[in-house]
Amino acid sequence: MSDQPVDYRPMWEKLGLDLDAHDALLAAVGPLYADAYLSQQNRPEGMSYFDFVISEIHGLRIKELDDFRAQGGKVVGTFCLYVPEEIVRAAGAWCVGLCAGAEFAYDEVERIMPRNTCALIKSFMGFKLGKVCPYIQEADLVIGETTCDGKKKAYELLGELHNVWVMELPQMKRERDRDFWRAEIRELVAKVEELTGNNITADGLRAAIKEVNDKRRALQRVAAARKADPVPISGKDALLAVQVAFYDDVARFTQMVNQIADELEQRVANGVGAAPKGAKRILVTGTPMAIPNWKVHDVIEKAGGVVVQEELCTGSRYYSKLVPEMGEDTTMDELLDAIADKYLDINCACFTPNDARCSDVIDMAREWKADGIVHYALQFCGPYQIEATHVERAAQEAGIPLLKIDTDYSMEDIGQLSTRVEAFLEML
Ligand code: SF4
Ligand code: SF4
Repeated sequence: MSDQPVDYRPMWEKLGLDLDAHDALLAAVGPLYADAYLSQQNRPEGMSYFDFVISEIHGLRIKELDDFRAQGGKVVGTFCLYVPEEIVRAAGAWCVGLCAGAEFAYDEVERIMPRNTCALIKSFMGFKLGKVCPYIQEADLVIGETTCDGKKKAYELLGELHNVWVMELPQMKRERDRDFWRAEIRELVAKVEELTGNNITADGLRAAIKEVNDKRRALQRVAAARKADPVPISGKDALLAVQVAFYDDVARFTQMVNQIADELEQRVANGVGAAPKGAKRILVTGTPMAIPNWKVHDVIEKAGGVVVQEELCTGSRYYSKLVPEMGEDTTMDELLDAIADKYLDINCACFTPNDARCSDVIDMAREWKADGIVHYALQFCGPYQIEATHVERAAQEAGIPLLKIDTDYSMEDIGQLSTRVEAFLEML
């Protein structure tokens, strides 16, 4: 095998990327990763897999998607947990997450949407307008969803540039909302069958449920190991594993995360930690953190705390619940209803009321023995910034200190954030 680095530029060019802008993006992510990740002490050895994944994030994985499509495969891009990967995979297609965690081409974005739009929306629009995201270029179909108003309207603009289809998500969880959502899931089946030309069968669905559950179970093992003191893996590393779960090959990812979980369980047995025993343990809750948004975890861990769990879409909301695995006599309808119900059970702030999220946060803080909670919301995210009040009250009632952080993807407030986090950790 040659040690020569592979030249991916022809592939990026074919995908329509702006090569200079794309170089600038990759040049920014490398040092960010090195500063946040490679500077850590006592990392589990298995994390070298993720170092490799990040070093090839626009290389090898895009090549795999490219080859898959060259053989007739279809790729579906998503932005939200509510789009069931099981259905996409049962149709023989692959799913990739498209949320972006860095500021890019904001000038262009602000020509078509207000400055006071959340960073997550501005970022994915900026990646598309700035022609720097190979994942969206590989997506034959992008599936949006009617979660928050900002996303809903952004999908209309994105639809002018890409093949976008939007699922309607109810905003409440009553019986009639459940019926509505179950019908919407069937629409998704028809849509991906049309895209791929493949029929989804009950056997295919059962297999997809099992493989996606296996992926989530591997992440659950990592989460369980984080209950130990000293904690065997940093919050940053655990966050990265969930972030990569949205992109990576499912079977390979599951195998690698299970290997890391084996290593973590061994570390727990041997009392080996990524942070010193007794380090202040923090649960983070709030808006999702897409690659390369490692800001809040980095601030907490550089201040001497350790993040032990995330109640985030890039955290427990992604892996804590599984679709029931049912026997061979189950019908398509039963399987689809089980999928619909599992997904509707996710507690996103787009729902009202959303009390179950508050209970989840408190239960998790107790289970992972968190000394404090950090509520993280992106600026201009109405659902999470407002729901922070409920979470804060629930934490107060439970006697768990909570720090509210509202921020964006810029690094301008790092100094101020560090001061606030240091003071919070000292107070715990
Ligand atoms: S926070 Fe809500 S809208 Fe955003 S990805 Fe999660 S479930 Fe979807
Ligand atoms: S962070 Fe908030 S405003 Fe932004 S897309 Fe998610 S729910 Fe919508």
